[in-house]
Amino acid sequence: MEFRKNDIVTLDIEDCGIDGEGIGKADGFTVFVKDAVIGDTVRAKIMKAKKNYGYGRLMEILKPSPYRVEPRCPYARQCGGCQIQALSYEQQLAFKEAKVRGHLERIGGFTEIPMEPIIGMEEPYHYRNKAQFPVGRNKEGRIITGFYAGRTHNIIENRDCALGVSQNKEVLDRVIAYMEKYGVEPYEEATGKGLVRHILIRYGFFTGEVMVCVIANGARLPHSEKLVEALQEIPGMTSITLNVNRSRSNVILGEELKLLWGQTYITDKIGEVSYQISPLSFYQVNPLQTGKLYAKALEYANLHGEETVWDLYCGIGTISLFLAQQAKFVRGVEIVPAAIEDARRNAELNGLQNVEFFVGKAEEVLPREYEKHGVYADVIVVDPPRKGCDEVLLETILKMQPKRVVYVSCDSATLARDLKYLCGKGYELEKVCPVDQFGNTVHVETVALLTKKAR
Ligand code: SAH
Repeated sequence: MEFRKNDIVTLDIEDCGIDGEGIGKADGFTVFVKDAVIGDTVRAKIMKAKKNYGYGRLMEILKPSPYRVEPRCPYARQCGGCQIQALSYEQQLAFKEAKVRGHLERIGGFTEIPMEPIIGMEEPYHYRNKAQFPVGRNKEGRIITGFYAGRTHNIIENRDCALGVSQNKEVLDRVIAYMEKYGVEPYEEATGKGLVRHILIRYGFFTGEVMVCVIANGARLPHSEKLVEALQEIPGMTSITLNVNRSRSNVILGEELKLLWGQTYITDKIGEVSYQISPLSFYQVNPLQTGKLYAKALEYANLHGEETVWDLYCGIGTISLFLAQQAKFVRGVEIVPAAIEDARRNAELNGLQNVEFFVGKAEEVLPREYEKHGVYADVIVVDPPRKGCDEVLLETILKMQPKRVVYVSCDSATLARDLKYLCGKGYELEKVCPVDQFGNTVHVETVALLTKKAR
C-alpha cells in the first residue's frame, strides 16, 4: 500500500535506524519515526512519503516498549544532543553493537566477525568534560543560556545538561547574574550586536580543575573583575579567560585568547598520561571511556618495547603518548599545526622522549617518509575522522607491511570500507571491540586489529 503526507498510521516499532530512529512497517510500507523505540506501538503522522518508505512524526505511544525509560532530561526530544535517551542503557549498547556488526557485514563483506562485547559506561550521564553554551535572550527579553534545538539556532533554556558536569550550572548561574547586574549584553546573531556569545566550560575529571572561557564579540568585558570574583569561589576554578570572536560566522571560538584570572589552561589525565588543555585545544570529551578505548588499542598493538610505531591522525598525541610508554619509538602525524604543538608539549610534560610529531596529511607524510627515508613500522595505528582513511594512505600501509594495524574509528561504516580494502590485500581481521564513549547518543567508537597473514 502507498501512503501520502499527513496520513496517520499505526506501527509496531521493530528496528532502530543508524540515527536511533524507530522503524516500523504499515502494510509493507517502511516508516522511520524519530523518538520511537524498539518495542513501542505508536501512532505516527507521515511527514514525507517516498515510494516504499517514509518519515513519520510520533503522535502517540499506544503501547510503550519494555525498553523504554523516562529520559532524565526534560528537553531530550527538542534538543539536538541526545537521540536515544528514552532507550534503556542496556538496549543502547545492544543497538551500538548491532550497528557495528551490521556495517562490517553489509559494507565490509565480513561473515565471521571476531567481535568482543561492547565496553559500556558505568554511568551514561554526566560524563562530558566540555560544554559550550550559547547565550541570548528569550521572547520576554530575559538573558538565557542553554542548547540549540535540533538543526536550529533557537536556544532552549537549560543550565543543567544531563550529559554535563554539575559545575556547569554553578558557572552559568554566576555568568548570567553578572551579565544582568552590569548590563552586559548577549550577542545577537541576526544583527551582529551585543557582546557575550558563548560560555565554554571544561572540567578535569581526574584533577578537579575547572576552566571557564567567555567568548565575546569584543576584546573587553565591562567589570570583568566582578565576574572573576564570582567565578573564583567555585571549587577547582583554575582558568578564566576571554576569547575574542568578532566574526559573523557560526564558528564558536576566535583566535585571540586573553587571560582574566589563573592560568590559560587546565591539566587532566587519561590513564597515566597528563595533558595541558587550553580553551582552543582539542581534547577527548569523555576521558574515562577514552582511557578504556586507548587501553584496548594498546592491547591490540601488543608492544614489548622493541617496536617502531606510527600513529596517524594523532590529534594532540593522546594515543601516541599512550603507545610511547611501551614502544621503542612512536611517530605521530596530524594535519592541525596547533594540535601538534600541544602534542609536543604534552610529550615533554610527561618526560617521553621516544616520540616525534609531523604536521601534515597522513596520506602525504607517510608515503614521503617511506619513499624518501625508507621508514619502517612494526605497528601502524590510525584514528581518522568520520570519512575514514584516504586510499593513498591504505596503499602505503600495504607497501610498508607492518605486522599489525590497529584501527580506531568513530564511524563504523567507513571503518568497514577500509577494513575490506586491507583484508583483500594480505591482512586478516583478528579482533573488533566497540566502546561506548557517548551514552544516550547514537555514536559509537570501535577498535579493530588487523594482522598480516602468514604466507
Ligand atoms: N587520535 C586523536 C584524535 C583523532 S580525531 C586523539 O585521540 O586525540 C582525528 C584527527 O585527524 C583530528 O585531529 C583531525 O585534525 C585529523 N585529521 C583530519 N584529516 C587528516 C589528514 N588527512 N591527515 C592527518 N590528520 C588528519
